[in-house]
Amino acid sequence: MYEEALEYIKSCEDGVLQSDLWKCLDIDSRKCSRIVLKLLKEDIITREPESVDGVRTYRLRYAGVPSSSGRFRQLLVGEMFEPCAGCINECVPEHCPELSEWIFAIVLAEGSDLGLDQPIKKVNTAKLQQ
Ligand code: SF4
Repeated sequence: MYEEALEYIKSCEDGVLQSDLWKCLDIDSRKCSRIVLKLLKEDIITREPESVDGVRTYRLRYAGVPSSSGRFRQLLVGEMFEPCAGCINECVPEHCPELSEWIFAIVLAEGSDLGLDQPIKKVNTAKLQQ
């Protein structure tokens, strides 16, 4: 069903309303929402709020093939890349300032309105480990 949803969205030049998509695919709205969230998470589609006859829905548009930065999006917080990838340091995670900084950056990003894609301030974890 994921592929069918994607093909349908791709075929609609002006995008498709999410409230129409699940009807066209003959699935229930919750299943459609799950598919849409997966497509959004993979950066394959975009979603904009829209109101039709006073009912809130979303317009879904095909965004193209995800870029390489999209593939690594989950490893990025702002402009910080996950520190363990490619790390050759002697690993003691409980005392690793890079890992602590990364975890605090995630916590700060999740607690702010910025989201994980936005640049965030670096955290001085040295003070926190004392
Ligand atoms: S926890 Fe620290 S030392 Fe260990 S792999 Fe990650 S960045 Fe490297």
